[in-house]
Amino acid sequence: MTDCLFCKIIKGDIPSENIYENGSVYAFKDINAAAPHHYLIIPKQHIAMINDLQTSDASVMGELFLAAKNIATQQGFAEEGYRTVMNCGEAAGQTVFHLHLHLLAGRDLSWPPG
Ligand code: 5GP
Ligand code: ZN
Repeated sequence: MTDCLFCKIIKGDIPSENIYENGSVYAFKDINAAAPHHYLIIPKQHIAMINDLQTSDASVMGELFLAAKNIATQQGFAEEGYRTVMNCGEAAGQTVFHLHLHLLAGRDLSWPPG
């Protein structure tokens, strides 16, 4: 998608702070961090939102969570704990319409979320 912000980040047209990458996912620091650790894990394939997922995308979703686990281990907060969030649609707060898994850690995270 040529006018998608996160597709541009994957291509390197917009700079980002790479935290993790493999063949199917890319992860980078959120520009407006809500916690000491706040990363966005995105599929390299453009999928706008959960509502657009196809059965064939199941492995992509698995890759996002495996990346979250690997980043948590590499960054040293796996044992302490962390939160993953995926907003779907405007009412949930989705502002960028390229699927992304938020990974947050490094502070006490209250529940329920806002
Ligand atoms: P959403 O609100 O869609 O769930 O999350 C979008 C996230 O993308 C927000 O947390 C926002 O701070 C982050 N974001 C928006 N634009 C950029 C950008 O250009 N670079 C980076 N690194 N993060 C961005
Ligand atoms: Zn995209």
